[in-house]
Amino acid sequence: MSRFLNSKLGSLTPYTPGEQPQDQQYVKLNTNESPFPPSPLAQRLARQAAGDLQLYSDPECRKLKAAASGVLGAGEEQLIFSNGSDEMLYFAFMAFCGDDCPAVFPDITYGFYPVFANINRVPFKEIPLKDDFSIDPKDYCAAGGTVFIANPNAPTGIALSLEDIEGIVKANEGNVVVIDEAYVDFGCESAMRLIDKYDNLLVIQTLSKSRSLAGGRLGFAVGNKELIRDLNTIRYSTNPYNVNSMTMAAAIGAFLDKEYFEVCRRQIIENRAYAKKALEDMGFYCLDSKSNFLFAKHKELGGEFLYRRCKEKGVLIRHFTLPRIEDFNRITIGTKEQIDALLKVIEEIREETK
Ligand code: PMP
Repeated sequence: MSRFLNSKLGSLTPYTPGEQPQDQQYVKLNTNESPFPPSPLAQRLARQAAGDLQLYSDPECRKLKAAASGVLGAGEEQLIFSNGSDEMLYFAFMAFCGDDCPAVFPDITYGFYPVFANINRVPFKEIPLKDDFSIDPKDYCAAGGTVFIANPNAPTGIALSLEDIEGIVKANEGNVVVIDEAYVDFGCESAMRLIDKYDNLLVIQTLSKSRSLAGGRLGFAVGNKELIRDLNTIRYSTNPYNVNSMTMAAAIGAFLDKEYFEVCRRQIIENRAYAKKALEDMGFYCLDSKSNFLFAKHKELGGEFLYRRCKEKGVLIRHFTLPRIEDFNRITIGTKEQIDALLKVIEEIREETK
């Protein structure tokens, strides 16, 4: 820390992103990226946009908004884009939480939520997941603050039904409920269709997972137009050009290429079932995932040990050190070949420890 850092930020513990090693080629199953490249249309449009990079990007994202609005079925005034959904979550913490309005989220969820609360200096309340790692919707009724729920949750992968989400939104009439749907396309129902009904619901999604654009950095929020206006006030007060032109072009391609999106998403769901069965046959307990990862615990091998040995053998998975989940690993669903590589390595580790 330099002696110049704002003293209010001295105690901030930043989020730790998953490893992106550059030293060697790993089978990379640690950051929930798509194993498939962006749609060919997305790639072509991004290349075309590269020729106009001398110009600022459109701060209103008009072409992207028109394309997304058509595909998502949301009005253009109900949409806002950001540099990855992380930025949108940051905006939401800034806009809708305060001294008298804490952020409320599960104790085991996306690790960025407490960081966003801390950097915005807003109080937060963590509600423990049930013993089976699911969220009890009753715990969020009249939560007394702005609710943040990842659905499906991360790193568990467990999803709440749309009915449960609607119940939470209804029970928090006086507060915003943010549903972070980063993984929604892999088997759970989006709350997007409720936005005309509830003015306190904000749904946040990303193109990083099901649309293969993690490196492009594009997130978006859908909600009542007043909520979107508040988020735009923050966006125009920080960085109106937060979405660059190449990403905007790529995202238009990713939205319009519905067939490619469907093929990729179905393949991940199929590969998830394949990986789950194989892991269970090897003595793993896997939570019921509706996302593009599995959260799995072996009956004998410890989570930290497994992560380390897999890495030594060239396969990256994710391990978290929180006490309740330290025996688990989060395994991103890749191609069948990547999953087979992981299974082979785990088989070797099991042999070595016999
Ligand atoms: N929400 C959740 C639950 C996530 O796991 C992630 C990915 N780390 C994000 C949001 C952010 O994704 P991105 O910024 O790439 O859109």
